[in-house]
Amino acid sequence: MGKKVLIIGSGLGSLATALRLSSKGYDVEIVEKHHQAGGRLNQLKKDGFTFDVGPSFFSMSYEFDELFNYCGIPNPLMMNELNPVYAVYFAEKKFPYHIYKDLDKLAKEFELIEPNFKEKAEKYLKKAGQIFHDTEHVIIKRNYDNLFQYAKALVTVPLKHTPQLFKSMWKELESNFESEHVKVIFSLVAFFLGSTPFDTPAVYSLLNYTELKHDGYWNIKGGMYKIVEEIILLLEQRGVKIHYNVEIDDFRYTNNKITGFVDKNGKTWNADIFVCNSDAAAFRGKVLKRKQFSTEKLDKMHWTLAPFTIYLGVKGKIDQLHHHNYFLGSNFKSYADSIFKLSVNPEKPYYYVNVTSQSNPESAPEGCENLFILCPVPDLRYKKNWADREALADNILKDMSERIGFDLIENRISQTIYAPDDWQEMFNLYQGSGLGLAHGLNQVAALRPKNKDEDFSNLYYVGASTVPGTGLPIVVIGSKLVTERILEDA
Ligand SMILES: Cc1cc2nc3c(=O)[nH]c(=O)nc-3n(C[C@H](O)[C@H](O)[C@H](O)COP(=O)(O)OP(=O)(O)OC[C@H]3O[C@@H](n4cnc5c(N)ncnc54)[C@H](O)[C@@H]3O)c2cc1C
Repeated sequence: MGKKVLIIGSGLGSLATALRLSSKGYDVEIVEKHHQAGGRLNQLKKDGFTFDVGPSFFSMSYEFDELFNYCGIPNPLMMNELNPVYAVYFAEKKFPYHIYKDLDKLAKEFELIEPNFKEKAEKYLKKAGQIFHDTEHVIIKRNYDNLFQYAKALVTVPLKHTPQLFKSMWKELESNFESEHVKVIFSLVAFFLGSTPFDTPAVYSLLNYTELKHDGYWNIKGGMYKIVEEIILLLEQRGVKIHYNVEIDDFRYTNNKITGFVDKNGKTWNADIFVCNSDAAAFRGKVLKRKQFSTEKLDKMHWTLAPFTIYLGVKGKIDQLHHHNYFLGSNFKSYADSIFKLSVNPEKPYYYVNVTSQSNPESAPEGCENLFILCPVPDLRYKKNWADREALADNILKDMSERIGFDLIENRISQTIYAPDDWQEMFNLYQGSGLGLAHGLNQVAALRPKNKDEDFSNLYYVGASTVPGTGLPIVVIGSKLVTERILEDA
């Protein structure tokens, strides 16, 4: 057997790293505080319904091919490309827009509001695509040891992209499109990064390229949790053990090496190498007690929005809903400006809805539908008490019922709500932030918490708040980067 590796946490970053390291002969063991693997990529089974707890789609599907290919295994996941990619409902418009990758079809959706849409979109996406391809390998998919290396990498990016660093995504959209609805739809990706399109630099238009031109959006046949189940099957074949209900809260070290991590019951977990899949910033503060990551400093960092999620089982079929749906109001700018800080519940919330029973009938009893509703809300720094969760859920369900013409409250047979405090409690998400540290230019690449510890030479990190960042394909890339670090140091 090779060297022993202990991974703290069993999110996707952990599982992918375990698969890679076990392929290289390392003896891997995982400890997890939750009762089930997957972290945010989890599953809830209740009242005959099965729900994906967090992610419902992903871009850059080829990163999963890369992961299994790296390990010499055929990709066991049955990936489906979404078409339409999603549907968007505006409060002031009865019928949704269907968002297609096929720009001729998309131009038809927008023909009444955006003349010459196809030409405009081709031009906008071409520029966004150049940014993606000019940064994917030289900036995103690499490790940095210091700021100098980062500066050297940045100067290799063609100068023509520089203005996009100083312009907002919204300004870029304004110079390409006229319709407010088109601009709002293209700008939704900014929220995934942890900011509004008014504050997000235009370089991130590259995300529009990934969703609408490059690889599109995908999900998994049989539900997103299949990703976790399939990787665990492979790990079991390699003898990788996962210990559940084990939360690490202390550590032991000699000189500059960790000798073991200690769980809440006082048991010490020893290994040669340690990989932390708990939030890379919060863990350094809460467990390693680093001053640079004190609560005060963590609170000053930029975090992505917190999720308020409802898992709803209803009697009856809702044909008017699509697989992926965004429900937006008519006050986009003021909503976007207030949502990150507002300490009260928004009156007319914006939310995302996913209905897996439409493509996965086994996820709901016959004649029923399962709905995953995600409303981005301020994190626990701005709103600590979520005792009003039932009222907020009813508010969302009432709004949606009116907009789709189906009474969700009357037909509700199962309901579970996770507010930001639940998300914090379940997976140690800092202040309940759903996607971890935001991706402003001061929190990416060499400026993000590193995947190799500053003080301990045998401690590494993987997951949403270290490099390269958040989202399923991105943490899979992160698992490759941390594996490269470990192999280089071996
Ligand atoms: C509601 C929601 C919807 C999302 N939707 C999408 C989507 O559609 N597409 C997409 O690409 N991404 C989406 N994301 C983001 C995506 O889920 C994350 O980027 C990704 O899953 C993060 O993986 P990770 O490796 O950081 O692990 P995490 O999911 O953070 O898992 C870390 C694990 O470590 C455990 N842990 C933490 N601390 C300790 C400790 N001290 N001791 C032991 N165990 C510990 C936790 O319990 C957890 O299981 C969504 C996230 C949320 C919350």
